[in-house]
Amino acid sequence: MKKFLIAGNWKMNKTESEAAELVEALKAKNITNPEQVCVCVPFTDLRTVKKALEGTGIGLGAQNCHFEESGAFTGEISIPMLKEIGIDYCIIGHSERREYFNETDLTVNKKLKALLQAGITPILCVGESLEIREQGTEQTFVAGQVIADFEGIGPADAAKIVIAYEPIWAIGTGKTATPDQAEEMCAFIRGVLSGIYDNATGDAMIIQYGGSMKAANAKELLEKSDINGGLIGGASLKADDFAAIAGAAAELS
Ligand code: PEP
Repeated sequence: MKKFLIAGNWKMNKTESEAAELVEALKAKNITNPEQVCVCVPFTDLRTVKKALEGTGIGLGAQNCHFEESGAFTGEISIPMLKEIGIDYCIIGHSERREYFNETDLTVNKKLKALLQAGITPILCVGESLEIREQGTEQTFVAGQVIADFEGIGPADAAKIVIAYEPIWAIGTGKTATPDQAEEMCAFIRGVLSGIYDNATGDAMIIQYGGSMKAANAKELLEKSDINGGLIGGASLKADDFAAIAGAAAELS
């Protein structure tokens, strides 16, 4: 059976009280496939959302972490801190972090290794800018990210990483990659992983599409054979829309 993970990325939205309201609205939707769903929320919302999600089966994620266990890194959050809260997932290398916060493939690689050691599932974001796509070098660029980000990670650990292919030109722009464009790159990424590891590892990996996925386009994206779900920004802030996207995955399962 095809695997799906529908992950909400709330970004820097929702105070604690607003987060509690959104989770209550989501719970009221009675999602039938909670094991295929998670929400990645701001650090300040993690405890509240953890409690609110209790018994639902919906997973919880953070949106970043530091790779060191502790120390003089003012303003940062460590993996042991996240682990104690009981998160399941952590987004790593989102294009907004790469662009605005100097995230590099080197720091992404260190974070992936530290998360895997802690037993937290990384959701690794990769994807090209519009400029790179217009040059026609998007596959070379994304392959470079994947190779650098997975450096030194063995096959058993690699298979635990969720990849989100997010073309930067489609994030928050309302401009979705066509199902064929998304499928082509997700299949290409799977091929790169099969090349680094083996076909069994490549086939086992969850590769999501992210970029203006919404209720109206989720089904046509999710039915593509190499797309195992979505990383959803804007539409994850609306319980109706997010539940409808989860519903599209449930129908295809
Ligand atoms: C994202 O933040 O990862 C994302 C895909 O955002 P949006 O769905 O709003 O394009």
